[in-house]
Amino acid sequence: MKKHNFSAGPCVLPQSVLQKSAEAVLNFNNSNLSLLEISHRSKDFVEVMDNARNLALEHLGLQNKGYQALFLQGGASLEFLMVAYNLLEKKAAYLNTGTWSDKAIKEAKLFGEVVEVATSKSDNFNFIPKNYKVPSDADYFHCTSNNTIFGTQMQSFPEINIPMVCDMSSDIFSRQLDFSKFSLIYAGAQKNMGPAGTTLIVIKEEILGKVSRVIPSMLNYKVHIDKESMFNTPAVFPVYVSMLTLQWLKDMGGVSAIEKVNNQKAEILYSEIDKNPLFEGFVTNKEDRSKMNATFNLRNDKLKATFDDLLKQAGINGLNGHRSVGGYRASMYNALTLESVQVLVSIMQALEKGA
Ligand code: PMP
Repeated sequence: MKKHNFSAGPCVLPQSVLQKSAEAVLNFNNSNLSLLEISHRSKDFVEVMDNARNLALEHLGLQNKGYQALFLQGGASLEFLMVAYNLLEKKAAYLNTGTWSDKAIKEAKLFGEVVEVATSKSDNFNFIPKNYKVPSDADYFHCTSNNTIFGTQMQSFPEINIPMVCDMSSDIFSRQLDFSKFSLIYAGAQKNMGPAGTTLIVIKEEILGKVSRVIPSMLNYKVHIDKESMFNTPAVFPVYVSMLTLQWLKDMGGVSAIEKVNNQKAEILYSEIDKNPLFEGFVTNKEDRSKMNATFNLRNDKLKATFDDLLKQAGINGLNGHRSVGGYRASMYNALTLESVQVLVSIMQALEKGA
């Protein structure tokens, strides 16, 4: 029996996508060749790349609006560096909501002044700062929409007149937003899009070409745009699986349809965390709670062994919190079914009955 996979990433992918990916590894498009054996410049793979890029823009409502989608390597972590390399001339503004924002800030500081507009660091990042001011003379503003480790999520974004850059690694394609407010969005594939190994970058072309430094080719967004994301050999398998997942999302009814399911999943889990006396949520400010990663803990550590045993028996995988936070973290990405969350909730209820 397939496990209920609450892993934070790499994580659950749709079963039909796994099936088709496995078939393509053996025999891609009835070519009697593996997807892994063909040239990335072959007609069949160029089609995969084009489809993946188009589907990404389509899901975000950004087709024909001056945006380009790229599938690059190096993970979201390389984007911490590339964003600053390509956009930071003098000063950039960063909102610090967690470990990943912190890392992005560290890289940006290599290139210029960084203004931290607000931070929740002293409270172990358990809330999203509000009412901060973004300097209008900064080259761009950077934020992280979903804090994968601590389980917080931005519900609103500032109204600003400088480019807004967002790390959406752990909530891209999970909810509807006005994505045209963002000039650059990046996301590692390994949550809502595919396996590890590729990163989606969606970028408004007009923000490029404004820094005076020389940018090495591999780190230059313009070079990758001009080469249609094929400047060097792309990560063919991760791009293919991402394309299938984006197609699956389209067949499911797109972001608006999946958002409804994601809301239901978060609602039933958080209401159990709130009403079950054995548990407490990590994020106390309810409006800041992430719908992708719910962090919680047992109030009484002595119940841990029993709870862990019940989880194991029910086939629940990947529920341990990040090593820096501890406790539990239920990651409820797009491909995790409502049924998996119902099973988790029933285990929490069983623990309460038995306690
Ligand atoms: N940003 C966020 C929000 C993340 O959750 C992660 C990884 N979990 C990263 C960045 C880093 O991504 P990568 O490992 O692909 O470099």
